[in-house]
Amino acid sequence: MYNCVICRYHEIATKGNNRNMFEKCLVDNIKHSLRQIDFKCRVRRIRGRVWIEPETGFFPAEILTQINAVLADIFGLESYSPARLLTVDMDDIRATALDMAEEVFAAFAGRNKPRFRVRARRSNKRFPLTSKDIEIDLVTALAGRIGNDVFTIDLSDDADITLGVEVRDEFSLIYFDIFRGPGGLPVGSNPRVLTLLSGGIDSPVAAWQIMKRGSPTDFITFHSAPYTPPETVDKVKGIAKVLNTFQRHGRLFIVNLAEFQKAVRDNCAERMRTVLYRRAMLRIAEMVAKREDCKALVTGDALGQVASQTVANMDTINRAIDLLVLRPLVGTDKLETIAVAERIRTMKLSSVQVPDSCTVFAPSNPATAVPVDLALKEEAKIPGYSQLLQKIVDDIETDA
Ligand code: ATP
Ligand code: MG
Repeated sequence: MYNCVICRYHEIATKGNNRNMFEKCLVDNIKHSLRQIDFKCRVRRIRGRVWIEPETGFFPAEILTQINAVLADIFGLESYSPARLLTVDMDDIRATALDMAEEVFAAFAGRNKPRFRVRARRSNKRFPLTSKDIEIDLVTALAGRIGNDVFTIDLSDDADITLGVEVRDEFSLIYFDIFRGPGGLPVGSNPRVLTLLSGGIDSPVAAWQIMKRGSPTDFITFHSAPYTPPETVDKVKGIAKVLNTFQRHGRLFIVNLAEFQKAVRDNCAERMRTVLYRRAMLRIAEMVAKREDCKALVTGDALGQVASQTVANMDTINRAIDLLVLRPLVGTDKLETIAVAERIRTMKLSSVQVPDSCTVFAPSNPATAVPVDLALKEEAKIPGYSQLLQKIVDDIETDA
């Protein structure tokens, strides 16, 4: 029944010089994602829309289901509709629309009378009928074909069945479904960043939000083998894999922080440990970001969540480095974050309990407001602090 999928995106994001880059990026991402489906498609952009078409003929129903599922994760898409592409001719539009409508109505047989509406748009001003005329023509013809009593007219947005018709200069379109895309900007339309990814609930959501704004991300995770088990890293690998379904590919850098944590344990005040770990994590992440040309770091910090996320400690942690740190969750509640984690399919993986690097030698009563000069004084007690971090960076494993 369908011979194209029409993809819509937001005009606002495409103003001025950005437009071409934005559209090209979106088309490239759609093409790339469609490669996982075993069916040859053409992807083109025509006047503010992206079109997916089979090389010939129609889409098989099961292929269309797969395409719809792939498009649901493509940032930059506002909505999309499987559609029938046809000529600019009212007889043709009417005949095809009625055939298609009959099939759609058949699915409602035996249920409550569906509420139905037609929404027509006409950008072709030479077409003899106005949008209103087209709508009346189709409703009347449908009542003639399947009977007046089969449906009720409902012009609101929550009608059960909406028949969409667009009449353009070179072709017209008929569709029934409008699926919501995830919105945002196409991944790749902003620079690459590096996300500090733990096994928790927050950092995968933070990574997703930044990808949604157009930045592809690599990942860096800290473990403390042999004080944490291999499962600590396996869990993060699993989460990174899910996150990579929203972008081309992000690498995972795996860092063993244990030597540093031992040095802190042996040399520094116990209550400072959490802040000192975090400062070292940021410093290591900054070194990797510079090496890999990532333009910012991303964390899942939420203000006030734990001792390391008081305003005072976030400030002291932040001052360890120079690079921009994006904290997209800073103002969100845990329940809001959990809702997103469910939607993006990371929640289940994050809920598996495994030991976390931060809990190794963790103080029972961490300081909630460490001034930056105190942190510097504690760090000065660690012999060869920078060499120790450099050694840790040299030993980083990459899961490509
Ligand atoms: P999440 O790790 O998802 O935030 P959490 O609440 O357990 O859950 P926090 O202790 O709040 O984590 O850490 C705040 C942020 O610091 C994390 O969101 C993450 O960006 C970073 N972080 C913490 N631990 C690690 C780790 N082991 N590896 C990489 N990043 C980490
Ligand atoms: Mg957190």
